[in-house]
Amino acid sequence: TDIAAPSVFETVESEVRSYCRAWPVVFERAAGSRLYDEDGRPYLDFFAGAGSLNYGHNNPVLKRALLDYLADDGITHGLDMSTTAKRAFLETFRATVLEPRALPYKVMFPGPTGTNAVEAALKLARKVTGRQTVVSFTNAFHGMSLGSLAVTGNAAKRAGAGVPLHHAARMPFDDYLDGQVTDFLWFERLLDDSGSGLDHPAAVIVETVQGEGGINVARAEWLRGLAELCRRHDMLLIADDIQMGCGRTGDFFSFEEAGITPDIVTLSKSISGYGLPMSLCLFRPELDLWEPGEHNGTFRGNNPAFVTATAALDAYWRDGALRERTLNRAARVERALLDLCGDDAATGVAVRGRGLVWGLEFADGERAEAVCRRAFETGLLLETSGPRGEVVKLLPPLTATDDELDEGLGVLARSVRHT
Ligand code: PLP
Repeated sequence: TDIAAPSVFETVESEVRSYCRAWPVVFERAAGSRLYDEDGRPYLDFFAGAGSLNYGHNNPVLKRALLDYLADDGITHGLDMSTTAKRAFLETFRATVLEPRALPYKVMFPGPTGTNAVEAALKLARKVTGRQTVVSFTNAFHGMSLGSLAVTGNAAKRAGAGVPLHHAARMPFDDYLDGQVTDFLWFERLLDDSGSGLDHPAAVIVETVQGEGGINVARAEWLRGLAELCRRHDMLLIADDIQMGCGRTGDFFSFEEAGITPDIVTLSKSISGYGLPMSLCLFRPELDLWEPGEHNGTFRGNNPAFVTATAALDAYWRDGALRERTLNRAARVERALLDLCGDDAATGVAVRGRGLVWGLEFADGERAEAVCRRAFETGLLLETSGPRGEVVKLLPPLTATDDELDEGLGVLARSVRHT
């Protein structure tokens, strides 16, 4: 194989230690489902910018919209200004996403990236309720800034803060015993007991599928139980759809399948569609209690991102075609993965997923990394997730063709069998 020597990539990135996320080559360009390194070698991308490239690299429809906008001297940096690009995005978002689903949300632009949306959601929930504790789940990942890290369940990531992070309580994720949703029972007892030491929480924040946590899929029934628990105990429900939103599970919002309407929703990653920084915090209108200036930031008005986001909504969410396509392809991927690893007693590999996000859980992180390394050598980009990096994660662009999916699944199968 053809892997660059460490001295070559050290000139660009001195800390490349992994065959996931920071691969040991220098990439130059990308189109559709493929990236190309500086020597022209192609790589099939089953990582998709950690979920930021649901419509592929340099999607031609989005690129055309962006080039036309720039050719007309469209505004790039808009702070909080009203611009035609922002208005077009808001109108299109309402018409293609909110109104067809009868979702009542107000839309705010909290900053460029996912953690900005989570910080805004946490701040708003605390401001509205006047309470400070937020409940999250084991293995949750919500971002790297202090508030979002406090509700993240990964000890290694939390350690980066250097100090204990407060005002967060944790519940087990999607925990069942004998078919009963048991985790709500003990939690409810704590909430009912004024002497339990638990401050009444402001909110619960949840991912419907934990992406960084190891592709842990919450059952629809559990999500409904959680929404009901929040309602009974007057806690706001925040759905963090940063990685699983924008069609990753088939529906535009990953919580739609469960039939719940969270009070607050965070979106980022694929919302701009083109890999440009953008995030949204959606909330019920009655939560709109911020005074002007209580939440602002320099890069809240990324107008080129509004342009590509509008083009993505127009191209993919005016009808149900992308949803149907994603669910068909999901069935194809699931079949292939079950053929490969279905009998986990024999293979030692567990398969989990929904829509076009799938995980293969290996016995340890070394084996998962070895699979990614072998896949990379055969031209397939994969990353790992899970508390010990033991889950190989598959996140192809939603626009990947059947041939590309089959090609990637073939490389994956050979990588698993030969590792
Ligand atoms: N929330 C979820 C569910 C995520 O997957 C991520 C990133 O992976 C974030 C929040 C944080 O987003 P960002 O890395 O853009 O700050």
